[in-house]
This record gives sequence, C-alpha cells and structure tokens, in this order.
Amino acid sequence: MRIIIIGSGYVGLVSAACLADLGHEVLCVDNDTAKVSRLQAGDIPIFEPDLAEMIARNVARGRMQFADALPAFGSEVAAVFLAVGTPPLPNGGANLDAIFAAAEAVAAKARQGLVVVIKSTVPVGTGDAVERLIHRERPDLPAVVVSNPEFLREGSAISDFMEPDRIVVGTDHAAARRTLMDLYAPLIKLGTPVVHMRRRAAELTKYAANAFLAIKIAFANEMADLCEAIDADIDQVMRGVGLDSRIGPAFLQAGPGYGGSCFPKDSSALLATAQDHAVALRLVESAIAANDARKRALGERVRSAMGDRAEGRTVAILGLTFKPDTDDVRDAPAFALIESLQRAGSNIRVFDPKGMNSARRQLKGVTFSENAYECAEGAHCLVLATHWSEFATLDATRLSDLVATRLLVDLRNGLDAAKFSAAGFVVHGIGRSRRVPPTPPVSLKLRSRPYRPILSLRPSLNGHVNKSWPPAGEPAPR
Ligand code: NAD
Repeated sequence: MRIIIIGSGYVGLVSAACLADLGHEVLCVDNDTAKVSRLQAGDIPIFEPDLAEMIARNVARGRMQFADALPAFGSEVAAVFLAVGTPPLPNGGANLDAIFAAAEAVAAKARQGLVVVIKSTVPVGTGDAVERLIHRERPDLPAVVVSNPEFLREGSAISDFMEPDRIVVGTDHAAARRTLMDLYAPLIKLGTPVVHMRRRAAELTKYAANAFLAIKIAFANEMADLCEAIDADIDQVMRGVGLDSRIGPAFLQAGPGYGGSCFPKDSSALLATAQDHAVALRLVESAIAANDARKRALGERVRSAMGDRAEGRTVAILGLTFKPDTDDVRDAPAFALIESLQRAGSNIRVFDPKGMNSARRQLKGVTFSENAYECAEGAHCLVLATHWSEFATLDATRLSDLVATRLLVDLRNGLDAAKFSAAGFVVHGIGRSRRVPPTPPVSLKLRSRPYRPILSLRPSLNGHVNKSWPPAGEPAPR
C-alpha cells in the first residue's frame, strides 16, 4: 500500500521505516528542508538504534522517499499519517499549529477522498477539528480522520513499533478501519491485539497511558525519598512491589524524575483538557508537581553531597539525554541539574554518548568532553544522570585516580556502588539504605530485545497487503 507520513521526527521516521519494512511504499514529508536534504543524502538526523540501517534498506528497495513539500496525490495513496510535533504551550496545553498546517496541506493537495491518520499525540477533539478543517477547505472531499496514537519509546522504537503491545484504532468509519487493519496486517497476523474505539476515546487513551506511567514513576520516586528517611533500599522495595502481577516491575525505577518529549508535555496537556471540562485530575496534578519539585531539587541533592561547597568546584555529569539509546535531550533532568549547579557557581563538565550535538545547541558555559574519563578529570563530584549501558562498565579505579574528590552521586542507581566504594568513592544513590550494602545494579532495560526483521512474514504480504511486493527486480527473501 502507498502511504504518506507528514513529519519526519522520532515518530514519523520510525513509523515510515517500519511500515516500509512491512512492505508498504512510504513518502516522508517534512517542512524542515535541511532535515529532508540530509535524509535524501542518506544522513539520518536522529539517533535511534537500528533506524539508519532500516531506512537505508528501504530506500534501496525503493520503498522510502523524502520530500520537503506534500505533492498532489490521489486514490493511489491509502492513507496520510500526521506525525508532526505537538509541543507544549505556555499554559500546558498542546500546540496544534503543526497539525493544522499539515491538515491544510492535505486539503490543498488531495485529489480524491482520503483517510487521514493522526499519529501525533493530540488532545481529545483534535480529530473532530481536523475533520472540520478539511471539510471547510474542501467541501467536495470525502475525508475520514482516524486516531491511531503511537506508543513507541525512544531507544527501543523499532521493536516497540514492530512488536507493539496493542494497536489503537479510533474511528467509527468501517472502510477507514479496514484500511488501518490492512496497513498493520503483518503485525496483526503475529497476534498484536487491535483495540477499536471511537476517535475521542483513542485520543484520550494515549494521554491516559502516559499519565499512568508518569504517576508510576513519581510514586517510585516518593518511595525512594521515604527509603532515604527510614534507611531502606528502594531497589529492594520496588522489586518486592513490582513482582506483584497486578502492578508489574516496569516504570518503578527511582531516579531524577521523568523527562523527555512526552511525559512532561502530555501530562500537562491532559490536565489542561480536564480543566477545560471542569474535571479534577488530582493524581495527575500531583505527579506533575512531584516531578517538577524533584527535578528542581537535583541541584540541592548534589550540593548537599558536596558538603554545600559547590561554588568554584567542578561537577562532571555523565549522561545528558532523558534516557539511554536516544540523542533526545528534550526536558532531560540533567539540564535542570546543570542549571541549578551553574547558579550555585559550579563548573560543569559533561559527556553523553549520543546527546552531545543536541546538548551543544542548548547548553552554555559547560565543558564538553570526549569521553567519561576526560569528563571526570579533576572533578570534585561525579554525577550519573543517564544510565547508558557503557557507563556500567566504567573502571572505578581509573576514575578514582582522575577525580579531585572521590564523590559519586548516582541519580539512576546504575553504577556498581560496591565497586566505587572499594575504589575509595563516597557513593550517594537514590533511595539507598546507608546500612544495607546496595544490591548490584539490575538491568533497567526491561525490554531490550533487538528488533530482527520478520523475514518469514514478508512473503505473506504479497497478495494480502502490498500488491507490489517485492519491488520489481528484487528477489523475495527466503
Ligand atoms: P519531532 O519534533 O521529533 O518531529 C516532528 C517533525 O515534524 C519535525 O521533523 C518537524 O520538522 C516536522 N513538522 C512540523 N510541522 C510540520 C509541517 N507543517 N509539515 C511537515 N512537517 C512538519 O517530534 P516526535 O518526537 O516525532 O513527536 C511527534 C508526535 O508524536 C508528537 O505529538 C509526540 O507527542 C508524539 N509521540 C512522540 C513519541 C516520542 O517518543 N518521541 C512517542 C509517541 C508519540
């Protein structure tokens, strides 16, 4: 099937590459001409594991193309996906300018009736507004707007897309529903549940899921504070809690507070929707407040570990991205920490395996290091802010020779505290007991399966989903 995806960011590009890998032909449209030029030259502007290879493979097969403007299109296009950004407004609501601009372009360029699929995270009622906009601009055009929210996580986006827990399809329109079922047929055949619902319910489902996860994280962080006060170990407590099958272990890792491009903005946007409808969402409100307070207190946590002598001293921060395996630094807790420590007069050195380029555009007055050891050199405090797996194998003894003061603040409980203690470091974790020797760091990646192309699936696509598969001249995989 032929599809167009407007917006080539983390969600648009991953969705495009995965749908192309499933056998569809995808045109990716983005109004950032520099980004499109890079994509056309084979240079992938974001870091997401395995994405570059997947795009290269599908460009070579002729299944992925890039354009900086939407071309005129007709019924050969089965659906147009909107995957543009919906950043926060100052009042916490979602800025829908890009959604409406994309919808206007669709209305201008569509020759025949079409299915518009909103993949961006949008407030309840946005699908109605987009449908009204298209009908206003083009009363002649039968257009159906479907909500199909995306649940992928940066860092494991490809496996999340290809092996999703569920696919949510929000529409009452039977033909549009069939189009979505055809598009996702290979995943549905593998047993992925599809949850059909009304469009407004689908829009809310995405926000409700993110708000629930944000509450779970905020809860674990509150318990970590209590652990510090009562001398207990949060890792042990949350293991005991998370093994309860009614609760589950995911999103119970205490840390510096949630960040990233989704949880902070989506929980605020959900609150804004509820306020518009005069509904109190006290749990969501509390999670937001608790998380904001936690991020604001990070600087104080580090300063207090330094004996309140942060001024003029050097803090080495390992990790800038909001989580490992992405280059995304949007709303990352490390930035709140850096801001606070700079206000306290500290000199900041930073290192991140993939986030340095994005960080360089935002951080002023910090020293960017080539690697973790260079970052630690002469530091009075070492802080782990993002638990990249490569940090877990850092040589504590080598670091102890490099730093000026052997002090480690591990905001992710990601390093082996016993090893660092043995190397002479005073170690401050999150929610860690002062008496019980800390448990060895557990794997924090709960779902780290690398994505492997579902080769056995592709032949079944022929005739079911993509009539043109395999593309001319390419042998079918065995
Ligand atoms: P992003 O900022 O990485 O990408 C958005 C892209 O849209 C950019 O490349 C931008 O240039 C392009 N764009 C903006 N206006 C446009 C227009 N009028 N025409 C064409 N292109 C335009 O954003 P993202 O992280 O991919 O998120 C996209 C949406 O998906 C958001 O609503 C987000 O909340 C949601 N989402 C994100 C994630 C995630 O992990 N990043 C996960 C699930 C859902």
